[in-house]
Amino acid sequence: MEKQTIQPFLTVANYHLLEQQMNKIIQTLATTKDKNVILAVRGIVESEIMAKLALSTAEAQLIEQLFKVTDRAQGEAYLEQLKPYVIPFKTVTASTLKSLFKKEKKLKLPKLEEIDFQQICYLAWDDPGTHRKYVVLEQDEQLKAIKGTFSNNIIKGICAICNRHSDVGFYTTSIKGQVVGTYTSHSNYICADSQTCNKHVTDIEKTKQFFNSITQ
Ligand SMILES: [Zn+2]
Repeated sequence: MEKQTIQPFLTVANYHLLEQQMNKIIQTLATTKDKNVILAVRGIVESEIMAKLALSTAEAQLIEQLFKVTDRAQGEAYLEQLKPYVIPFKTVTASTLKSLFKKEKKLKLPKLEEIDFQQICYLAWDDPGTHRKYVVLEQDEQLKAIKGTFSNNIIKGICAICNRHSDVGFYTTSIKGQVVGTYTSHSNYICADSQTCNKHVTDIEKTKQFFNSITQ
């Protein structure tokens, strides 16, 4: 029989969703021995994942193993095994970023070599000197860039990017208005730590909607 090869089919956000759902099963196993409860949680996890991912038969067989996970070590090994199926963030170089932020005279670039592009849904970095936070997101195969000012006043709140309750700060962006010389500003609470925020993104559509709302 011909061996079936599965091409990368998971977005980074899909992978985070699987990670989050697997943790739900592991936490249940750690807190109860009640078979019915465990069965119910596995069922909830299965329907949440299947509702969000459109899978081929071979892909579904791979994902179904997650519902049967029995402990953390096994779960982690399983997630590791899924990594080759993740579609990484679009490759960016220093010159890509410079062209995205053409008007920034003193653009401080992130350390690209330290970024695992298979783990990020969007690219973000800070310039602590100017309190600027730069964010790049892929949409319809195009990179979309925004820059804004991040306030250092951190509070507990809901992040507009990942929609989770976490340590957030006010992020203010502005775009040119239709009349020359006018600007429209948007202020939203987003996670202070963009690395953690990235891990919390399980539905990239919501993140894209947020980007659209502040760039249009
Ligand atoms: Zn966030």
